[in-house]
Amino acid sequence: MRACPISCTAVKQQFSTCSRKPKDVNQMTRGNPCQLPGMLPNYDPNDSEAGMKILEDLTENVEQIQQRVLEEIITRNARTDYLKGFLDGQFDKQVFKKTVPVVNYEDIKPYIERIANGDSSNIISAEPIIELLTSSGTSGGQPKMMPSTAEDLHRKTFFYNLLVPVMNKYVDGLDEGKAMYLLFVKPETKTPSGLMARPVLTSYYKSNNFKNRPFNRFNVYTSPDETILCSDSKQSMYCQLLCGLVQRQEVLRVGAVFASAFLRAIKFLEHNWKELCSNIRTGHVSDWITDPGCRKVVSLVLNKPKPELADLIEHECNSKSWEGIIKKLWPRTKYIEVIVTGSMAQYVSTLEYYSGGLPLVSTMYASSECYFGINFKPLSKPWDVSYTLIPNMAYFEFLPVKKKNEDGAQYVQCNGVCKENCMEKETEKEDVETVELVDVKLGQYYELVVTTFTGLYRYRVGDILMVTGFHNKAPQFRFVHRRNVVLSIDTDKTSEEDLLKAVTKAKVIVESLGILLIEYTSYADTSSIPGHYVLFWEITSKGNNHLPVLDHKIMEQCCSTVEESLDSVYRRCRRKDNSIGPLEIRVVQHGTFDALMDFCVSQGSSVNQYKTPRCIKSGEAINILDSRVVARFFSQKAPFWEPV
Ligand code: AMP
Repeated sequence: MRACPISCTAVKQQFSTCSRKPKDVNQMTRGNPCQLPGMLPNYDPNDSEAGMKILEDLTENVEQIQQRVLEEIITRNARTDYLKGFLDGQFDKQVFKKTVPVVNYEDIKPYIERIANGDSSNIISAEPIIELLTSSGTSGGQPKMMPSTAEDLHRKTFFYNLLVPVMNKYVDGLDEGKAMYLLFVKPETKTPSGLMARPVLTSYYKSNNFKNRPFNRFNVYTSPDETILCSDSKQSMYCQLLCGLVQRQEVLRVGAVFASAFLRAIKFLEHNWKELCSNIRTGHVSDWITDPGCRKVVSLVLNKPKPELADLIEHECNSKSWEGIIKKLWPRTKYIEVIVTGSMAQYVSTLEYYSGGLPLVSTMYASSECYFGINFKPLSKPWDVSYTLIPNMAYFEFLPVKKKNEDGAQYVQCNGVCKENCMEKETEKEDVETVELVDVKLGQYYELVVTTFTGLYRYRVGDILMVTGFHNKAPQFRFVHRRNVVLSIDTDKTSEEDLLKAVTKAKVIVESLGILLIEYTSYADTSSIPGHYVLFWEITSKGNNHLPVLDHKIMEQCCSTVEESLDSVYRRCRRKDNSIGPLEIRVVQHGTFDALMDFCVSQGSSVNQYKTPRCIKSGEAINILDSRVVARFFSQKAPFWEPV
């Protein structure tokens, strides 16, 4: 953030007078000489007041900024292979909206594949695509890949920096201590042309923007970068916890990106605290920490034997109950920073148990495609969290999501966490008109569509959001759910269709033995960490209604087959990250799914149009199934996975 000398007090002016405002499309398609992406005002991230001022300006001038963002993106990229098919090299918003289609990943996949295979022409972006970000959404079982450019890293840095003044507004003294953020990199791979393909956070942590970040007194981590960047996740976790424990008196907040990752760290601590304490006592890092970078920095943090500190931590960890353990181990902690919205909401109660009542703070809403929004009220309760979309991140459009009609209602009522969910109908028609960011209406549901600086045009993210209010002129959104996702434990996102395919493969095994799978449903069991998928199966012997004799080996094979058939993100979480436990099949007695239907009907479902929900979230419905379980089986081996 150095090249564009724009003062923070001149944000408004910049949006109307940025020197990069392109006139000549030819020049733009050759890339821009300015090192910094346009639309990002320059300011000192240590200056919270300046940060707040930027946020105020951004949220006051939403309409102008969105207009400028679209203009800049289109003018730069009008001659790309993708856009030139729709536009005649000019920026015209009306033509853009009329001719450029709203698309899903499958529509742009051929373009992404050309990039992955080394075609270096301006396929979707005038700026070179320097890497592909593997998203947790999948296409044909493989992770989706989102384009990324060098300048986009600056956009992410700008976004991260804006989180700091928001926190400072609500919590004092964050510069008087450290943050124990447990951050991890994931395996990466290369495309046939040698482009790096890796998750967005891995890309960011490995970038110079992260590694050479200027000192920010509000953002000092207990984890040395070497421990974050260690590719062995076990060594990384161990070392980060060790550093966090040694510096416990300095820690003012703890966290990880997602709630699931933070809870995994607590579990890891439960299993390893004795060894961690022994390291602290002796001042010697365990021999199995072989990563040279980790060994070196952790030894420096450990410094010398600290028997008193070890005694203290041992005392806390030895207590029978781990209720409130976080507050006990890190007594100055003011809050836990983890995303607890969306599928992570299932972890709120477990986090509350360990946290001893600390606020759970979801700071941001982002994806591989683009970073979207910031929570301006970070101390609000998880279910009240809304994100304000930051208008210079991308051009945002919204597909209205209509009220659900009768036939679909029972599905969500069975699963619904919140009543409003029961009333949606997702927009499948391509010709529905989108709404602009400034035109969304309070209380309405929308699916998010983005046009990014990195080469996505009118791309359906797949997230359903509800408008909850406005900050200045910027709308705020509650994350409602992700389109088509029924099961999620960590970063996995399994759709009903994925589940059906996997169950279909597994049921072939029992069918060959004369056993029929009559009905199935599922739920994400997060009562223990890591959570795991549970499938409820009602089965009978062919020709009668009797429960067949169940062979353990065969049923375990069914569990494994389901796992092998799930997508690569699920398999990575299960095999490499250990963030998902072995899949379980619970066989239920005959008539169980009739009882489930009775329950759904009693909750308002239409009998005529009833369809078995393929995923259950209602505690009552789960109890109905659980009370009829006759046998349980677990997968005995982790599924195959390799980086793709
Ligand atoms: P990925 O592209 O794999 O990084 O996944 C991005 C997706 O994760 C988003 O499109 C959302 O569905 C989900 N997500 C990210 N941040 C949040 C959040 N703060 N609350 C709820 N869901 C989120």
